[in-house]
Amino acid sequence: MKTQKFSQRGTKTFLRYTPSPRKTEQEFGPGRHEYFVCSDCGAVYFKKSWHHSFRGSNVRGGKHVHFTKCPACAMIANKKFEGEVFIDTSNLSGKMRQELIQHLRHVGERAYARDPMHRIIKLQVQGSKGSIVRVTTTENQLAIRIGREVEKLLKGKGRKRVEFSKEEDVVRVFWKSAR
Ligand SMILES: [Zn+2]
Repeated sequence: MKTQKFSQRGTKTFLRYTPSPRKTEQEFGPGRHEYFVCSDCGAVYFKKSWHHSFRGSNVRGGKHVHFTKCPACAMIANKKFEGEVFIDTSNLSGKMRQELIQHLRHVGERAYARDPMHRIIKLQVQGSKGSIVRVTTTENQLAIRIGREVEKLLKGKGRKRVEFSKEEDVVRVFWKSAR
C-alpha cells in the first residue's frame, strides 16, 4: 500500500458498503471539501471518482479526510465480485498455460493502473489436473476484456461464451478448449 501525504483532521468514519462507483458518487455528492481515503489500498475519492493518490485533485494544504473502504476493497472484503472467468486449459501445454496466466496478470495490472477500482481479485488454477484457470474481477468489463484477451491468445483453440446474470450484477465468461 502506498503512503499518502495529507494532514488528517477529520474523525474516522466508516461508510456503508457501496457496490459500484456510481452509487459512491451519489452518496458522497460532488463538490464537497472533504476527502475519502481507502484505509485498505489508499485510493482517494475526488472529482466523482476514485484515484491512486491526491495528484490531480488541485487541493493544496490541509485536507479533511475520512477513512473508509473503497468500493473495490469493500467488494473483496465481502467476498463478492462482478466478473468471473473460467478458462479450460486442458488442451494447452504447461508452458502455454503459464504464458496465459502471466498475460492475464499484466491485463489486470494495466486495468488497475488506469483505474484503481478495476482489479483482478484472484487468479487461481483449479480442477483435478490444474487445468481450469479461474479469474475474478471487481468489475464486469474487465472480465469481458480478459475473455477477449484469451480469445486473441488462444485463437482457434477453443470457444468463448459470455453469460450476463440478471439476478446479480455479475458477468461470467467461459472459454472451453476444442476437443
Ligand atoms: Zn481500497
